[in-house]
Amino acid sequence: MTDRDPLGMYGDTLREECGVFGILGHPEAATLTALGLHALQHRGQEAAGIVSFDGRQFHSERQLGLVGDHFTDPATVKRLPGHMAMGHVRYSTTGETILRNVQPLFAELEVGGIAIAHNGNFTNGLTVRRELISTGAIMQSTSDTEVVLHLIARSRRKGSDERFTDALAQVEGAFAMVAMTRTKLIGARDPNGIRPLVLGDLDGKPIFASETCALDIIGARFVRDVKNGEVVVAEIQPDGSISITSSMPFASKPERICLFEYVYFARPDSMVAGRSVYSARKRAGINLAKEAPVKADVVVPVPDGGTPAAIGFAQASGIPFELGIIRNHYVGRTFIEPTQSIRAFGVKLKHSANRAEIEGKRVVLIDDSIVRGTTSIKIIQMMRDAGAREVHVRVASPMIYYPDYYGIDTPDRDGLLANQYGSLEDMCRFIGADSLKFLSIDGLYEAVGGENRNNAAPQFTDHYFTGDYPTTLTDLRGRHSADPKTVSLMREAS
Ligand code: AMP
Repeated sequence: MTDRDPLGMYGDTLREECGVFGILGHPEAATLTALGLHALQHRGQEAAGIVSFDGRQFHSERQLGLVGDHFTDPATVKRLPGHMAMGHVRYSTTGETILRNVQPLFAELEVGGIAIAHNGNFTNGLTVRRELISTGAIMQSTSDTEVVLHLIARSRRKGSDERFTDALAQVEGAFAMVAMTRTKLIGARDPNGIRPLVLGDLDGKPIFASETCALDIIGARFVRDVKNGEVVVAEIQPDGSISITSSMPFASKPERICLFEYVYFARPDSMVAGRSVYSARKRAGINLAKEAPVKADVVVPVPDGGTPAAIGFAQASGIPFELGIIRNHYVGRTFIEPTQSIRAFGVKLKHSANRAEIEGKRVVLIDDSIVRGTTSIKIIQMMRDAGAREVHVRVASPMIYYPDYYGIDTPDRDGLLANQYGSLEDMCRFIGADSLKFLSIDGLYEAVGGENRNNAAPQFTDHYFTGDYPTTLTDLRGRHSADPKTVSLMREAS
């Protein structure tokens, strides 16, 4: 086992994958929110919630399960009346799967009711939580998001939006957040803009959503990305009109959107920071074919994540593309079950070999990423069982050495396949492939349309590949990490 991750001590940070949506001033706000969340379902399948406000009261429905399991029921939506609503889809990896962790979180404060929904993770969440509890705070959930409600409650600023901003200035890490008060819908992004958030418009009614695909589903117009470090406040005025104001209240930092949005997380039909996710993935496949060519009879994607890259790989290599693996869409994501044994079982439920396209052939399997290696092991065995003559694996992103602390589900360093094996050859042998290659970091940057990472100021965060964390991290004793650059130096030295 290599000791490449100097930050293993941060492993207990709470991690959640999530999507957020909110709309202001529309008579069917809750229905539109349910539709928006449905389009964001890939960002979290464990639970969903919607809070609405009808001019007098807030209403809240929070459920475990998929959006479609609950929010397609007209009776549920009827319990969410009002002209403003916001919602959240969630998948947690370390917070518990319990209803009181499901967002939006809501509280009645001195400044009135406020609901909040968070995509991302606070890297000092546990420390702030402990400080709040030690001074008397009563927490309802085990989610790091709840600290924001307490910080708003304790803020001495005047208005609800100023208090919200004041609270966010005290947390570190990643946040794309939506908040709702009696008259306002607020969208905010952390100073690095690690997680995405867009501003949309439906007939003059403002919307915040994690991705543009949530705008497309309801026919809304994309207005712009919320900027890194920006707080956008949409407010209903006494005459019924809606005003939109923007401020940049946090210390300015360069934008570093998470590269994994392009690799795996975002939906391929979304535009993230002005770039098509689909074309980034396809281009990654083209670059992979150039960097790691292989003699084979058929290019097979690991669906759905590997499909755009496999199309690119097939086009660039001239090897025919075939659907050699069929995915059952009625099973949740591989990662949805919390234990390793159930996760392995889940993979079998999800994919099956299309024997007619595999038997007797030299197969190149294309996946978007390898995290734990669980998927690769199963799929390669499946290809062999279906009669593949050779199985070559090409991965459309670099090796993952470092855990994520900003809202992507990755295990601690020991759980990452790249850390379990010293060399590519050992990894290849372990997963049972005939050959294994990963896309280079430069190949990925080129695919996403970014400058070579060594030539330009960082435009993305790529810490899972490089160890270059964009923020300070806080360990369980509340100590800040050294300058994140030290992390890279330590990695190079190791
Ligand atoms: P693993 O099986 O642990 O190596 O994970 C890699 C597989 O899971 C690939 O097929 C990816 O498409 C998918 N994947 C990558 N990252 C994530 C994530 N954060 N959550 C769920 N699935 C993921």
